[in-house]
Amino acid sequence: MMADIPCRVVVIGGGLAGLSAAESLAQAGVTGVRILEASHRCGGRMKTIRFGESIVELGANWIHGATLSNSVFTLAAQNNLLNPYVLLDRMEGYCYTSAGHVIDPHLANRVWTIYQALEQDLGGLSSQTKDTPGIPLESWYKNKFENALALFKTQEQEDARAVMNCLLNLIRFHNGGFLEDTDTHLIAQYEELPGGEVKLPRGCASILDAVLNTLPKGSVQYNTEVTNVHLDTSGPTPKVEVRCRNGSQMMAEHVIVTCSLGFLKRHHHALFSPPLSSQKVHAIENIGFGIVSKIFLYYKIPFWVQGRGGIKLCWQEHESRPLGKEEWYKKIFSFDEVLNNPGVLVAWLSGDEAAYMERLPLQEVANVCSNILKTFLGNPGLPSPTRVCRSEWSDNPYICGSYSYPTTSSPHSLVPHLMEPVCSSDQVPRILFAGEATHPTYFSTMHGARSSGLREANRIISLYNMRPKL
Ligand SMILES: Cc1cc2nc3c(=O)[nH]c(=O)nc-3n(C[C@H](O)[C@H](O)[C@H](O)COP(=O)(O)OP(=O)(O)OC[C@H]3O[C@@H](n4cnc5c(N)ncnc54)[C@H](O)[C@@H]3O)c2cc1C
Repeated sequence: MMADIPCRVVVIGGGLAGLSAAESLAQAGVTGVRILEASHRCGGRMKTIRFGESIVELGANWIHGATLSNSVFTLAAQNNLLNPYVLLDRMEGYCYTSAGHVIDPHLANRVWTIYQALEQDLGGLSSQTKDTPGIPLESWYKNKFENALALFKTQEQEDARAVMNCLLNLIRFHNGGFLEDTDTHLIAQYEELPGGEVKLPRGCASILDAVLNTLPKGSVQYNTEVTNVHLDTSGPTPKVEVRCRNGSQMMAEHVIVTCSLGFLKRHHHALFSPPLSSQKVHAIENIGFGIVSKIFLYYKIPFWVQGRGGIKLCWQEHESRPLGKEEWYKKIFSFDEVLNNPGVLVAWLSGDEAAYMERLPLQEVANVCSNILKTFLGNPGLPSPTRVCRSEWSDNPYICGSYSYPTTSSPHSLVPHLMEPVCSSDQVPRILFAGEATHPTYFSTMHGARSSGLREANRIISLYNMRPKL
């Protein structure tokens, strides 16, 4: 048996939430903070890798909201990480049908404008109270799109509907991929920040480095999966024992848990002793955790004109629904260009089809993507990609999916229960919860993760009357 290492605070997980919590504690002068990270690297769902002629993001990509109330935008701006400043144009490129023709950009733009107005309407639903589970987001959007078709001439409707089908795939990956299970009113509680979506030219790695640089050397212990967190109230001062798969053990005054909701769903029974409250277990089991994947194709000689490469896949109504997982490609929204990486296209997809794709041989994924591009561009002679890579979040044992979303299983947000700390009988928070899924309004994002980490650090800092980081 290894001796217990005494720590003041143990942070479980070196994703942005965990790193931000440790940063804040360090800046407030809290010593004895240790981050335990199960994998060999920090960053979790933020993962920049070299691919093609530059870098690509396997996970998070854009800062949602160029405003100082976005904690990640602020961090990026303070560290000069936004040069050159690039705003996302979601509809860059063209809309193509499976018959290989380009949809009139003017018509596609009209559909896009309708979609943006619907997003506004959706945001407005957050202020409406309700006592019964809401309608699924899938039916909400489909009904609205159906009504909007009347705004188009009869001869335009087939193409308009195809663009709507394409946008449904965009809406799917934005919300984790399971729209039929996503609560329309609760998803509306996600607060859209103003200023557009900004890209990080040097990748998410630059954000992670900025935070890691603020931490004392050796703060992170890698390859250290926590298997049990035990609140010990037997002695005069309550303590939290942390046990790891590699045999190491720590004794802490406070533990901040930042494991993904996907990980908690699978492991909360074994992870906590005594068991978590029934309210918290209910929250873990009933907040949704989505599946979102990306595929990257590299062409040594790009076949598209730079700046015009966005290839939006617009399936006709009768063909849009995958008949089985083998038709996973029908969940692809678009093949988009990648910033500063001229030969690379990225495809996004979500839901069970994304998980299925992640398990296929890479060559098969490459062949399917190639065939889809040939079909939609109407060009059987299109070259095959030189190299392919993809994300594998759903099978990552420490992530188990992509990001959280509210389900129709509860009429009210369950996030307050998820973020509530476990206290000892003296009301001192001992086991605290951070991570994107614990943010009531910025869930599913980097800024939600960072803000939740800062929130829980401040909860500890205020116990010791130290000055919190603002
Ligand atoms: C494909 C994809 C695209 C995305 N795009 C965007 C985007 O464009 N913009 C945006 O804002 N957000 C995006 N996100 C969401 C964003 O990446 C996450 O919300 C954020 O990174 C989550 O940070 P976190 O610290 O809460 O969790 P994580 O990043 O999951 O970090 C948790 C860490 O805990 C570790 N861990 C888990 N269990 C244990 C254990 N038992 N012991 C020790 N360590 C453990 C994990 O290895 C991991 O490093 C995207 C996510 C995905 C998957």
